[in-house]
Amino acid sequence: MPSAAAVPSPSADAPDWVASGEDTQARLVDTVAHFTHQRDTEALDHSLTLSLAELADARAVTLYKYAGDRAVPQDLLIRCRRNALGRYSVEPVPCADDADAGRLLRQGERDGGCVRLRDGGYGLLVPIRHDGRMIGALMLESAHPLEMLRPLVEGFARIYANYVGLIDESERDKLTGLYNRRSFERHLQQRVHAPRPRAGEEGSRAWLAIMDIDHFKRINDTWGHLYGDEVILMIAQQMRASFRHGDPLFRFGGEEFVVLLAAVDATAAQAALDRFRTRVQEHTFPQVGRVTVSVGFAAIGAGDYPATVLDRADKALYFAKNHGRNQVHNYDFLRARGALEGELAIGSVDLF
Ligand code: GH3
Ligand code: MG
Ligand code: MG
Repeated sequence: MPSAAAVPSPSADAPDWVASGEDTQARLVDTVAHFTHQRDTEALDHSLTLSLAELADARAVTLYKYAGDRAVPQDLLIRCRRNALGRYSVEPVPCADDADAGRLLRQGERDGGCVRLRDGGYGLLVPIRHDGRMIGALMLESAHPLEMLRPLVEGFARIYANYVGLIDESERDKLTGLYNRRSFERHLQQRVHAPRPRAGEEGSRAWLAIMDIDHFKRINDTWGHLYGDEVILMIAQQMRASFRHGDPLFRFGGEEFVVLLAAVDATAAQAALDRFRTRVQEHTFPQVGRVTVSVGFAAIGAGDYPATVLDRADKALYFAKNHGRNQVHNYDFLRARGALEGELAIGSVDLF
């Protein structure tokens, strides 16, 4: 919570609600309560930019985010600005479409503070840090100087960072740091309902792959659970090294993993998964030696139910298990050639 001292005092440049003497603290508390009610990061991003735009009566508020598994910058901006009707609207903007804001926000990451915008307006840049690490930055734009709002925006940046940390922790598997099963449905729903190509990847489609360690029971039985856990950890590392940043990775429970893959077609998806399978096969695991994985995958179509896609990938995985393991299979190919008929439909994963 911003301290009482952080609440700006009325001045000629203040937004109307401050200047009018409205109950400032009650309004702030109300905004913070609304903002912290959000349970996923997209809703939180939306609420943060909108709350700040309304509180500061800003022309625009932009949130620049570092995100993803590998702590590299993901050039994503969430931007709240007034539309033609004078109402605020929030939308994600690829950084390339907004190079100027991107440049300013990068500067804000370093120094923070007030800047003059090219059009004569005023900007306020506030870095967002969590555990000493930069996770993003905020930029407010206004026709008026914003210096007096700086403590308020910094307070919001701190609350936001704490919340993002909490949400992220609740979505991660403790052992591997990959996303957990709980967050899977949300990620998959996003792709089922909005399967859109990423910038520079025209026509790329979304695919779901399930990977399962072969004969993992044997590894546990021979070497013990500690070595088993070590193998799980190393497989997670191989996944991080094999798939692109932006393809969310999950530990699905036990020794099963999932990746949501963007690829132009089935051949490209198969190639990416085969690269991972080969990488695992060629790795020497301490003590345990060789480990292999079997993989099943399926396309994610616009109208597909998450449970259906999961079930298809699972059937392809079990085909791989029943035909020698250490293989990657595509559900659509198997089905097209009638290879799944007569296969036992053993589901390894509980469907929703
Ligand atoms: P398959 O090639 O058919 O997949 O054989 P498998 O032995 O890998 O398959 P199965 O599902 O029979 O065995 C999985 C084993 O994984 C059973 C369980 O003891 C072990 N396991 C599940 N979760 C963990 C974990 O978190 N750590 C360790 N060390 N073992 C786990
Ligand atoms: Mg299994
Ligand atoms: Mg297994």
